[in-house]
Amino acid sequence: MGSFPKQDQVECKEKAEYANVNWDELGFALTKTDYMCIMNFNQDERQFSQGTITRFGNIELCPSSGILNYGQGLFEGLKAYRKEDEGILLFRPEENALRMKIGADRMCMPSPTMEQFLDAVKKTVLANKRWVPPHGRGSLYIRPLLMGTGQNLGVKPASEYTFLVYASPVGNYNKGELNLMVEDKVHRATPGGTGGVKAVTNYSPFYKPLTEAKAEGFSDVLFLDALTGSKIEEGSACNIFILKGNVISTPTADGTILPGITEKASWNLHQVEELAVPIEEVFDAEEVFCTGTAMVVKSVASITYQGKRTEYKMGAETVAQKLHAALTGIQTGVNEDKLGWTMAID
Ligand SMILES: *Cc1c(COP(=O)(O)O)cnc(C)c1O
Repeated sequence: MGSFPKQDQVECKEKAEYANVNWDELGFALTKTDYMCIMNFNQDERQFSQGTITRFGNIELCPSSGILNYGQGLFEGLKAYRKEDEGILLFRPEENALRMKIGADRMCMPSPTMEQFLDAVKKTVLANKRWVPPHGRGSLYIRPLLMGTGQNLGVKPASEYTFLVYASPVGNYNKGELNLMVEDKVHRATPGGTGGVKAVTNYSPFYKPLTEAKAEGFSDVLFLDALTGSKIEEGSACNIFILKGNVISTPTADGTILPGITEKASWNLHQVEELAVPIEEVFDAEEVFCTGTAMVVKSVASITYQGKRTEYKMGAETVAQKLHAALTGIQTGVNEDKLGWTMAID
């Protein structure tokens, strides 16, 4: 099995300024865009090739590839926003590149260099420029994937690797309330496991409790630590903060929690204590919120634990709303970027 994919390299042709999309109807689902970027790992040179832009489409994989058989893979997620003047900004893409490198070490994979990662992300966004929603009406969600390809029957690291970046326009994720259900039987991560990296294998194992929680009307599950079942960790793809008095706390990410880039940005904008958060703390918290690239910052309306439901402060006066405004202001170029968090790519 040679290197893949077989798609020909294509030139990006000038297209209409904006794709024909009803931007205000977008949720968080895939809208296929024009192009994707692919780099293969060259075993002889021990490095990834430069990124190649190809038509967005299906890829060829050997049935015995490492990603399909043993889940040797990682993903990332970041967004490109359009400014009022039509320019395009990325939010801290270096953080995603670093997190992918840490994940690649954990998963025994080679990783693209910082430069290659940023180059592939920029190329993908520029090639799909007409899919970046107008200012204030959503963003282009960028999904980098790193995976073991090539043939691999035995349980061992793959013989070949591919780094691929695709993108999809998404809406401003603010519809509906966030009502969490504490999951006390299924654990997302264990000490020594891969919970601290965005390994593809961390997600489908909790589809069962998540599906059950959704069937009961909840929006997401809140996981507890696997060792004691007494401390909150995070949601299915978001970090959690609780506010009591003047103190904001968030569980320490020490291997079983994914260190979020939005979470880290929030600490910078607001004083936050990183510590173990016992489940009892959610009963008398005044405000709770979640952070993640998809939702940015979102207030939690309620948390239910063993049948007991606790409700929290919502609305314009919450810290969550203020943080959301501050962060999206920087991301969309409305607020001055004093911390140098954005990268202009046009
Ligand atoms: C991606 C992810 C987050 C949020 O990370 P961001 O970098 O803020 O998007 C939180 N928890 C889990 C489990 C995740 O996969």
